[in-house]
Amino acid sequence: MQPKKTNLGIVRPVRQEAPNLDYIGGAVASLRGAFESGLTRSYAWRVSQLDAMVRMLKAEDTALCEALQRDLNKPRIEAFVTELNEVIAGAHYLKQNLKKWMKPQKVSTPLVLQPGKSWIQSEPLGVALVISAWNYPVLLSLAPMLGAIAAGNAAILKPSELAPATSTLLARLCAQYLDRRALTVIEGGIPETTALLAQKFDHIFYTGNGTVGRIVMKAAAEHLTPVTLELGGKSPCIVDQHADLEVAAKRIAWAKFFNCGQTCVAPDYVLVHEQVHDRFLDLLTATLKQFWGDDPAKSPDYCRIVNGRHHWRLTDLIEGSGRVVVGGQSDAASLYIAPTVLRDVPDDAPAMSEEIFGPILPVIKVASIDEATRRINARPKPLALYLFTNNDANQQRVLNNTSSGAAVINHAVIHLGVQGLPFGGVGESGMGAYHGKHSFDTFSHKKAVLKRATVLEPDLMYPPYSDTKEKWLRRLV
Ligand code: NAD
Repeated sequence: MQPKKTNLGIVRPVRQEAPNLDYIGGAVASLRGAFESGLTRSYAWRVSQLDAMVRMLKAEDTALCEALQRDLNKPRIEAFVTELNEVIAGAHYLKQNLKKWMKPQKVSTPLVLQPGKSWIQSEPLGVALVISAWNYPVLLSLAPMLGAIAAGNAAILKPSELAPATSTLLARLCAQYLDRRALTVIEGGIPETTALLAQKFDHIFYTGNGTVGRIVMKAAAEHLTPVTLELGGKSPCIVDQHADLEVAAKRIAWAKFFNCGQTCVAPDYVLVHEQVHDRFLDLLTATLKQFWGDDPAKSPDYCRIVNGRHHWRLTDLIEGSGRVVVGGQSDAASLYIAPTVLRDVPDDAPAMSEEIFGPILPVIKVASIDEATRRINARPKPLALYLFTNNDANQQRVLNNTSSGAAVINHAVIHLGVQGLPFGGVGESGMGAYHGKHSFDTFSHKKAVLKRATVLEPDLMYPPYSDTKEKWLRRLV
């Protein structure tokens, strides 16, 4: 295999022999047949599949946690809280509300079109393709699938090849628990995804980096297929002089370093007011020790980097990106990188030039909240923005003067747990959103329906036109 460097600096192997991918067209055609038969449209089918998903997650909890442990050394509790339980909660929420969302939504009809009724009818799009990423391989695969199911679609899931144990297990479990006629998993990497993208889908839901996001969007354009792109970027975190510093240090340490920083909405870097900068660093250092001990390599509660290529990319970022306050140790053999905090990080340092997506946290001193927002606005719009302050004016200033997929005040990452909030990016961090009603809407077409009665048929709108008709129309419209 010849290694190939991507735009993200990630080296991926390139296969020499092209695999036989003829089965992919057949799989898509078979799902389309199932969709066109009407199988997936009924409320009963949708609920049965949401229930089956919950049954699968509960019955296969141990197997799924073991697969996540093999792929990412993910601690059981993190696997349950951030992946399995999130999908279960999402399925329950969809089921609770589905009947209401499926009902036609009435809108008013103007006088000139009376007697008549107008409504919006949600209908499934057809066959959806879900392409997911490796860092939360259960959540990022199954949560979009829930949306596709709730909206009445057939769907193909393509999990990430970089979490192979989870990918293989999901393929087996989905075939065992879900309705195989309409829901299927196709495993594989670039060749399989490329072959899938050549097919016509009715929606493509992609999670991953922006470079591949562009490939997905170009392929979708060939068929005029709508896309949802759940991308990443550098999510900033501001700590001002009015913040509760102990709480901020604890919450930021947790949000940044669980899953070894391999979280799309992890705080990427921290902008701290100069008055509290040193105290914040002391508290952060103490919190890391409290969470993972003197040697996090020995902690059973600390994840590992997904593979050697990302390990190499991340250790490169530490070198030449400022002073290490804490951490910096790494071991390529065990894919370990200690929780690492950097200070005095220049704007052009490697750690500030790309999304970190690992356990490295640059902490940057700023003189004011306005300097913080200026720095944020100088970069592409992030997936999330975090602000730690108890000052209401500063909260409003940051909310009103920045743009991000989401914003959280005095915490980080936890907005994912609010089913009512849309989850998605803006600008380079993505397009479209999901979770709760937003998942249902993403995989639905909102059909506009107008029904006229036939009892009255005035000639008002029809030629030949006259001054009298115009006079009446001007009154009525
Ligand atoms: P990845 O390597 O698992 O790739 C994602 C998917 O793209 C995989 O299924 C993979 O097979 C496919 N893929 C890769 N190269 C391809 C190609 N050339 N053509 C077609 N398909 C291809 O994951 P990643 O991209 O390393 O994920 C990390 C990125 O994703 C980060 O930027 C992170 O912030 C972002 N992310 C975003 C979210 C979100 O919900 N917004 C969640 C997780 C990760």
